[in-house]
Amino acid sequence: MVGDMTLHDVASSGKVHEVHGEFRGGAREARELHDARDEIHGVRDTIDRHLDGTVGAVGTAGAIGAAGTFGGSVTPFRRRIRRTTGVAKPDRAAAQRAVAELLTALGRDPSSEHLADTPRRVADALIEMITPKEFDLTTFPNDEGYDDMVVEVGIPIHSLCEHHMLPFLGVAHIAYIPGARILGISKLARVAEMFARDLQVQERLTAQIADWLDENLQPRGVGVVIEAEHMCQSLRGVKVAGAKTVTSALRGILRTDGRSRDEFLSLARTACR
Ligand SMILES: [Zn+2]
Repeated sequence: MVGDMTLHDVASSGKVHEVHGEFRGGAREARELHDARDEIHGVRDTIDRHLDGTVGAVGTAGAIGAAGTFGGSVTPFRRRIRRTTGVAKPDRAAAQRAVAELLTALGRDPSSEHLADTPRRVADALIEMITPKEFDLTTFPNDEGYDDMVVEVGIPIHSLCEHHMLPFLGVAHIAYIPGARILGISKLARVAEMFARDLQVQERLTAQIADWLDENLQPRGVGVVIEAEHMCQSLRGVKVAGAKTVTSALRGILRTDGRSRDEFLSLARTACR
């Protein structure tokens, strides 16, 4: 804490009225003071939303944008949000017919004994891989004011490349520096999976996870690194087996603060080996 910072009337009115800060420091202290102010603004926003009864504790409807929309109700005190997909429901029968046609086009006989059930299996596998699972996003108030990085490394991830409809798979490393709320830890993997189950490119997947956490959790910083092997590269074309594609997306102070950024990226690098 820098200077003589005090908060008044938080408990009585639910709003932060005043912040008294007397600044006597250098550049580092100025940044701390700046961060503290941002944090207070975050807390105030959260309190305001609670008072409004809208509880955007972890986000509001429509925040996901093109990748899907929130559905269902928002329960004010549990601070839970259920996500449902906003994309059209796949047509399973049509997909099966299309796979049978594809087999025919490839010179195979889909009515042969060995391939008879293949259209169903392929259609079901594809539908499963592009359909995100629903989950409850649980957050908790950051009562202790935890302000260090929360990192989860090595989250297994697999998705389907939209250019070849072949899998790419690897791991995601996700970090955030909490603001007013913290996330149930298993939820980082859930968020990653939510966007991985789609026709994707790795760059977009990485950015979507970072942006979603940034918008919905409103942390002070977010970092996402994904390293994945693309079957469309390993099995065909240039055939570089084992080559990894690494993408990263940094938001907030994980982008702007060199020390936080280096800390996260070096943790991610260590985890990669
Ligand atoms: Zn591809």
